[in-house]
Amino acid sequence: MPPKKKYSREQIVNSAFELARVEGIEGLTARRVADELGSSVAPIYVNFSDIKELKKAVANKAFKVSQEMSKEEITGDRFLDIGIASLRFAKEYSALFRELVLKKNDYMEDYDKELGNEIIQEISNETQLRDFTDEELGIFAQKNGFDTLILEKHHTLGGECTGWDRQDYHIDGCIHWLVGTKKGTPIRELWETVGALDGVDIYNPESFMVVEHEGVTVHFYRDLERLKSSWLKISPEDKDIIEDFCKDIKKLHSFSVPVGKPLDMMNIFEKIKYMFLMKDVGAVMNKYSKISVQDFASKFKHPALRTAISSFLPEGDYSVVSVIFPLGTFTGGQSSIPMGGSKALAMRMTDRYISLGGTVKTSSEVVGLDIEGKSVKRNQM
Ligand SMILES: Cc1cc2nc3c(=O)[nH]c(=O)nc-3n(C[C@H](O)[C@H](O)[C@H](O)COP(=O)(O)OP(=O)(O)OC[C@H]3O[C@@H](n4cnc5c(N)ncnc54)[C@H](O)[C@@H]3O)c2cc1C
Repeated sequence: MPPKKKYSREQIVNSAFELARVEGIEGLTARRVADELGSSVAPIYVNFSDIKELKKAVANKAFKVSQEMSKEEITGDRFLDIGIASLRFAKEYSALFRELVLKKNDYMEDYDKELGNEIIQEISNETQLRDFTDEELGIFAQKNGFDTLILEKHHTLGGECTGWDRQDYHIDGCIHWLVGTKKGTPIRELWETVGALDGVDIYNPESFMVVEHEGVTVHFYRDLERLKSSWLKISPEDKDIIEDFCKDIKKLHSFSVPVGKPLDMMNIFEKIKYMFLMKDVGAVMNKYSKISVQDFASKFKHPALRTAISSFLPEGDYSVVSVIFPLGTFTGGQSSIPMGGSKALAMRMTDRYISLGGTVKTSSEVVGLDIEGKSVKRNQM
């Protein structure tokens, strides 16, 4: 009698993976895997304590396959490349994608975060995702049971988020648009948690800004159709670029600021899910990130539209993303102005922080940090 053929753990996982690729993980049975392998069920129970363990190994293989795809350089833009890789995974492994990404499942709980770390590291470096203010960070730390102290070198908290009164006017130093004013969105809930928008009325201006140029008035209306038709009326010869621009602004309406779980704690599949939600947004950002505001403005034939676009931002080297992103959230109803403006917003967050037991010391500049073990000993001027 010939010796019994031995099957390795890897061979079994590979066969099970091929089956799961077509039929999904949940349907796997020892019998089905054995048939695929061309063996009895014995090697499966020799290598795995039960079918659950095998299913887990198959899920891990899927994670690894997806991670390898994500590492491939396709366009040179990592954000876009990861998005493309996730679409490719969904297409080539649709049964696995449906089970592991779209449906709630147990495999994620045991998922080794190390697998996604490299990618997460790169994505968490995205500047647009690093928008937490000092007050917000203090509030989160305080809410999680840490004893915290905010040292502020200025005499007032708030940093750039400030404003001041002159005669009968209030001059706002910052907020033209605050993303997250729309009720029911996750970012709005976050603002409420930190006290920034708790019980605050929101002013929804009809127009983001208005520019007058040689008797022609250009409105950046909240109503995107109105914005488009008013611009077309000003300059029918700019029809193509106006329509294209408005179409791209509309794509940003699906944008949702990621809150809840910080990006550096998301595993690769949660990341992929996020990429799916962001796929239109990523393409628009990519398109406009390479064009400067001035170059884009010069494409318009009408001088009033050229002036309006080019004066959207102060002088500086900005890409069109800095124009289209605010317009996307504004016309999508996601951003507006909280009553009281920037300073009141910063003060509300300060109050919330203090009410949670946090400590604030103003006029205290940190000039260096001495770190001993896990403790920070500060040097203060
Ligand atoms: C003109 C303008 C318009 C803007 N418009 C908008 C808008 O419409 N919508 C929007 O969402 N965002 C807008 N922003 C951006 C927004 O204001 C900032 O992204 C946000 O306020 C940054 O918060 P922060 O806490 O990270 O930093 P900052 O506000 O810069 O706060 C940093 C704080 O650290 C303190 N500090 C620095 N060094 C030390 C030290 N060594 N020791 C102690 N304290 C120190 C500073 O005094 C400051 O108070 C605008 C910004 C500007 C300038």
